[in-house]
Amino acid sequence: MKADFHLHSTFSGDGKVPPEEIIRTAIQKGLTAICFTDHLDMDFPYTELSFELDTEAYASTIHTLQSKYADQIEIYFGVELGLQPHLGDYYRSYTSQFPFDFVIGSTHLIDGFDPYYPVFWESHSQETGIQSYLDITLENIKATDTFDIYGHLDYIIRYVPAKEKVFPYSDYADMLDQILKLLIEKGKGLEVNTGGYRAGLKVPNPCPDILKRYLKLGGEIITIGSDAHTAEHVGSSFSLACDILRACGFRYFTVFRERKPVFYPL
Ligand SMILES: [Zn+2]
Ligand SMILES: [Zn+2]
Repeated sequence: MKADFHLHSTFSGDGKVPPEEIIRTAIQKGLTAICFTDHLDMDFPYTELSFELDTEAYASTIHTLQSKYADQIEIYFGVELGLQPHLGDYYRSYTSQFPFDFVIGSTHLIDGFDPYYPVFWESHSQETGIQSYLDITLENIKATDTFDIYGHLDYIIRYVPAKEKVFPYSDYADMLDQILKLLIEKGKGLEVNTGGYRAGLKVPNPCPDILKRYLKLGGEIITIGSDAHTAEHVGSSFSLACDILRACGFRYFTVFRERKPVFYPL
């Protein structure tokens, strides 16, 4: 099984290619399964980009394509929710209205600020930026049950101003334990997001220390996703992610169908 469970098409505000092109590329690259996870970030504070999602049109397009390509590739219907602590009820109601196979919960904003923009770092050091990101992540997990896996858990490291972008795991081990234990208690998984490599990291998000700790604490649900916003990144670094997971001690990775995890050997 070669499955990419984090993909953005033009239904995302920042997606570059239509869904059908992603599907054709995935078939060419020999993927067995893909899941579209276009963005929905409610109350996104920046006006230059909208992360609202026309979910009706998105659902109907993906379902048409599922039938069209059924004999060539498994296609799943998912979404990536940009979580904020006040959106728990909104997302609960939203996800119950559509037949999603898979839901990613992600932290993209810290108190209404996106650390992607350099202005965030004018008022935060690396230390306070990471701490705030993890604080909000824990709040988001407490506020929301309506996701299957947490997206790119240490994603903020992509945007710290330091040249060497290495997540200082041991400085945040206690906080990460709280996050990982809560995820496990709620039956939620983690993803290995290979977009980290494209952001200049030497490891995926989250880093192997976090993956190992999740496993040690009893976590078992791991998806693999490229977070591609262009055709060339579809399925990127999939086998590297498998190698890393094996090295961390995992024996299985996960694919979701109708919100239920199905395990495949690595
Ligand atoms: Zn994301
Ligand atoms: Zn994404």
